[in-house]
Amino acid sequence: MATSSINVNVTFLGTASAQPSSTRNHSSLALRLDGDVWLFDCGEATQHQIQKSSVKMGRIQKIFITHAHGDHIFGILPLLASRLNGAGGTTGEVEDPRLQTITAETEPILEIYGPTGTRAYIRNGLVYTHTLLGSPYVVHELRFPADPTHGDMTTLSPHVAELRTGKNVALVNGIWPEIFSNEILVVSAAPILHSVPCVGYVVHERPVPGKMDPKKYIPDIKRTKTPMSVMSQLQRGESVQLADGTVLHGPQRRPGRKLVILGDTYDPSPIAELAVDADLLIHEATNAHLPGIDPHTKPDDTYESVQKRAMSRGHSTPQMAGAFAKQIGAKRLVLNHFSPRYPGNDDVDKDAAAVMTAIQALAAQTFGSNSEVVCARDLMSLDVEHRK
Ligand SMILES: [Zn+2]
Ligand SMILES: [Zn+2]
Repeated sequence: MATSSINVNVTFLGTASAQPSSTRNHSSLALRLDGDVWLFDCGEATQHQIQKSSVKMGRIQKIFITHAHGDHIFGILPLLASRLNGAGGTTGEVEDPRLQTITAETEPILEIYGPTGTRAYIRNGLVYTHTLLGSPYVVHELRFPADPTHGDMTTLSPHVAELRTGKNVALVNGIWPEIFSNEILVVSAAPILHSVPCVGYVVHERPVPGKMDPKKYIPDIKRTKTPMSVMSQLQRGESVQLADGTVLHGPQRRPGRKLVILGDTYDPSPIAELAVDADLLIHEATNAHLPGIDPHTKPDDTYESVQKRAMSRGHSTPQMAGAFAKQIGAKRLVLNHFSPRYPGNDDVDKDAAAVMTAIQALAAQTFGSNSEVVCARDLMSLDVEHRK
């Protein structure tokens, strides 16, 4: 059991919807857990964005795909080729070492999670581009009720680097519980409503050690000549009985951090229960009504008409994101997946800053006055701390 907690950092690699622009790339974000990297979505040119950031390509362990729209998955094939030492074949008699047989016991270097079709998309892309990979990968699929429960959704045999241990995970009471867990974290997922099957992910840290006050324990430890090494037991929250019968109780464990990372949605309510008390909620806000601020505002547009149009395309407004953040009692809301109308250079451009400040204020209207709302910008990085 861990005695200290890990560093949790989120870096936005792409924050655009529809077309990418010179200031926003397509969707992807990197979750850093100490040194490990988990990607959520992998839009076109994600690997270029990684190279512009401090995220280490070689540390990517997992990729979670929210849905199969191209702006969330087109970058996965080139990224796999880079991460897994892939390339085209060799000519003539030269033997390519990447053609070694991968056995059932081989551990995957990269685990990919996504909705039905993710496995077929990757397999077809690798096979038809003759891409050879130097290390194995596996794809676990989250199956919706309308999906077949078995099968790979393709007639192609697995790529030589694809492990056949990919799971097809069925919904249980409306969620995909514990699709991954280790001693520090548990990942669960649930459907969210979009124009195509779409997944939201919840990364929940297990309870962490409480704050330790050594002064509370040292007199008893010294008096009973107990080795100081008991301090590490106490730090883990355990109780220790000393030679004279005194029992010392370690500090109570604190709840771990909860991150909720949503894909595109016009209504994420199926994930609400799983998402309750999120320390960080990442929610799209594709369209906003910004009369007087956004010069593209149509004269007959109203908030209602903009919201209706956004929802008809499977998307949300900042107010909808704020309302969901309030509903689940989130501590902090980060908006992403912005319309190409809203440039992402708001750190250097006054007009862009005015738009993003207005979007932030719209989300705060429904989230609440003490709420923290951030509009994500490409390569923005933020740490997720424990609640005080
Ligand atoms: Zn999208
Ligand atoms: Zn989409």
